[in-house]
Formats: sequence, C-alpha cells, structure tokens
Amino acid sequence: MSKTTPQLRSAWKEFECDEDSMMLIPFGPDKIRVVPPAAEAFEALAAVMHHHGYEIRPKDTDSYNCRKITGGSGKSLHAYGIALDVNWTTNPYRDHEGTRAVRFSDKDTQDERALDVKAHHADTDMTEAMIADVRNIRTREGRPIFEWGGSWNSVKDCMHFELDVSPQELAAGLDPATVPGLEAYLLALRATGGEPLPVVEPVTVPVAPAVFDPHVVIARDGLRLRSGPSADSDIKRVVPAGTQVNVLRRENGWAQVDFIGDGLADGFMSLSFLRPLDQAPTPVQPDAGGGVGVVIVGGRADITGDVTPALVSRMFPNTGKSNITTHLPSVLAGLRAAGLGDRDMVLMALATIRAETEGFRPISEGRSGFNTRTHPFDLYDPGTNVARILGNTQPGDGARFKGRGFVQLTGRDNYRRVGGQLGVNLLDDPERANDSALAGRILGQFLKNCEGRARAALAERNLEKARKCVNGGTHGMSRFRDAYERGERVFPA
Ligand SMILES: [Zn+2]
Repeated sequence: MSKTTPQLRSAWKEFECDEDSMMLIPFGPDKIRVVPPAAEAFEALAAVMHHHGYEIRPKDTDSYNCRKITGGSGKSLHAYGIALDVNWTTNPYRDHEGTRAVRFSDKDTQDERALDVKAHHADTDMTEAMIADVRNIRTREGRPIFEWGGSWNSVKDCMHFELDVSPQELAAGLDPATVPGLEAYLLALRATGGEPLPVVEPVTVPVAPAVFDPHVVIARDGLRLRSGPSADSDIKRVVPAGTQVNVLRRENGWAQVDFIGDGLADGFMSLSFLRPLDQAPTPVQPDAGGGVGVVIVGGRADITGDVTPALVSRMFPNTGKSNITTHLPSVLAGLRAAGLGDRDMVLMALATIRAETEGFRPISEGRSGFNTRTHPFDLYDPGTNVARILGNTQPGDGARFKGRGFVQLTGRDNYRRVGGQLGVNLLDDPERANDSALAGRILGQFLKNCEGRARAALAERNLEKARKCVNGGTHGMSRFRDAYERGERVFPA
C-alpha cells in the first residue's frame, strides 16, 4: 500500500528544493518548513506527540532540507518539504545487519527510554502507543498519511516521518477524528498567538534557567561572590567588572546568581553593584573631562553610529547598495528605539533581514500556489488551521494580513500584537507595515519580543537557535549564518 520514494518524489516534483514555496508552521515548541498542502498533516503529527507528552527538541528536529537521501541516490524527501526528522540524537539512523522489527523501550519516561537507545537496547525514545496513533492519522477518505522510518525492515530511521500520500490524496483533507489531542493542541497554540509552544523542561533534567534576568557587574574593583545573602557570608571569589551573570532571585538587596547559564546558583552578590542588561548603558563622551572615565561594560555599547551602508554591503554580497543606503537608517532607528543597538543585536537584525528579505527593502509576501487556491491568500483565511494559528478570524484576513516588511509580519494576531506594542493601528492599515521607518520599528520590536532567547543563543554562539527564536527552522539559515559571520569580521568585537 505504501508509496515508494520515487513515487513520492514524482508526486511532489514541483516542490523539489523550492525553499521559497515552503511554509513555516509551529511544530510543538519548534517551527518547521513544510510544503503548504502538508501543513495540516504536520500539525496533526505535532498534536499526537503533544497528546502523548512527547517532548520535541528544536535543536535536533528539522524538516525541509534540499539534500540527497541518506544511504542512497536521488533527493531526500526532505527536499520536498514532506519529511520531518524529530529528536535525532535519541532516534538515530541505524543501518543494521539483516532485517528486524523496531525495538521500543518499555520505560516510563522519555529520558529513560533515551538511555535505552544509547545502550542499544532500543531504537527510539518514542512509545509504541504514540507511533500507533501517528500511523492512524488519516485523510477523510481513510488513507493513512504518515510513514515512519522506524517501521522499515532493513534500516531504522526512527527520527524520520514522511508523507505517504500525493497532493491529490491529501486534498481530501484530514479526518480530525483520527487525531487524538488535535483540539487541545490547537488551543495551546492559540494561547501563544501562533508562536511555538513554550518548551517544557522535564523536571529530571536541570538545565535552562527558569528566569533569564541578565545583569552585569559594575563594581570597578570587582564584586565579591558570597556563599550567602549577607556581608558576613564567606567570600567565594571576586568577580571582575563587566562579568555577565544571571540573577535567579533577589533577597534583601542581594542577588542569587548563576554565572554559566545552567540555572544552578553559584552564590550571592550585592544588587547595588549589578546593572540589569536590559538597561542601556549611559552614553558617555570619551575624555569628557573631570577624569572620571566611565567604562561601558559587557559589550553592550551602541554601535549603530558605526554601521554604514558600505560596511553592511559586505554582509549582503547579492544586494545592490542603493536599497541598503535607502533603508539602513530605518533599520538602525528601529533597533535604537528597541534598545538593541549593541553589536550582537545589530548583527542578529541584519542577518535576519538577509534571511527574510535579502533585497534589503520591506516587501509583501508574493501570491503563489501555496497561499492561494481560488482567491488571493485564501489558504490563510478562516476555516484553515493556518488561520487559527495566525488568529485570522474575518473573511479576507489572509490577504489583509499577508507577510510584510523586513521580517514578514503575518496574521491578524501578529499585526495586533506588534502594532499595539508600537502604538500603531496596523489592523486598520496593515499596508503600513511596508513603510520603511515603521518596518524598521517592527523589526526592532520583533527582536525585542525574543531578546532574552536571542541573547542566550548568541552568547553560546548557537546561530540556529538564534534564528529560530525569530522565525523558525531552517528557512534562510545559510543566508543568516553567512551574513552573521561576515558581520563578525566587518564589525570586530
Ligand atoms: Zn529524515
């Protein structure tokens, strides 16, 4: 019954390596690129995983990718946006001897099952019950939609899920009755305004800090780290000025701090010598007289004054200089207004533009077969799952709130949220999102809304994670990385 890879390639041929036609959708806590007709199917897959409490890790989950098939010739189904790899570190590709069935772990938790995979006692950290539910997801005509790489006899590719239907078969629509947890999942997405769901950290794994409250040490001679919240407590060490710390909690003028970002406390410091990192450093004129030099610490100095069109052109090798000259002032003004004029966020913003709108000008999303069936952008209109995610509630919202600007703001909810934050009524006049000055402010606000995650990702120089916090998966990732790396050379720290 199931289709061969060549059959699927031929059925989805028109989408082969067509990155621009891919659609970005939430997938649990992740965002993934998939072929637009398959958006609802992948949403159903996420719903089933959500229903089973299976944690999806954005850092080792990926969908669209223009590449060759693993262990063979020809294009991978990932190149058509119809395949998805989930949590590959704990669901590794295994090319074993002979044929055999997949081995599930019978452990209760995902972490324990992952240990079984590591020990080669199991092939996957997914459960048999969840996979059974995935394989039962059907079209309204009763056709199973997904094939799972763990069900192959010759190799095991448990990370891998692929569509097993043609576009025509998928056009019958999804049978919601075959998707346990669909309603709950869509409601959860709705609650986040179409953003990916918050990552749920399992209690057994002490990792990411629950709070991201970065501060920098401003005591000129360094600040004492103590074992407790008082000047009588033992001194553990003296921390130099400019050191960045994460404040975990406050107590009587003392801050419990974490140095390395693992969420574990390293000691206590006096709050009066810590400055919140969200607070822009006071601008200082060098040699202003009086001899009281103030040092701008923590690498947060505003560099926008040094960001010229000529330098930015070096990050945009495929873009004419005239657009950069025209629109760069809007971008820099937007960043300054959001308090994001420091090197990290300037590079982040410019690399984001390179990934989203390489022409360096605010533009509208183009009409295509992927957002349009019979009238413009009707695939984003009420009644579709995409509309639910975008918060599109009125007929015509799809076209009204199509992607615009440097960041391709999309959907009624985003126009409402970002417009509200900027004090601009984008709901009544969405076309204003393409106005250069406003597009710059929208870019700044968009980055502001994920500033904590972006900074944390950049601090560990995880560019994939940084990119995902703005706009999802792998879309434009190579352009983002190239621009960021060029920027690091053009604007040395
Ligand atoms: Zn795969």
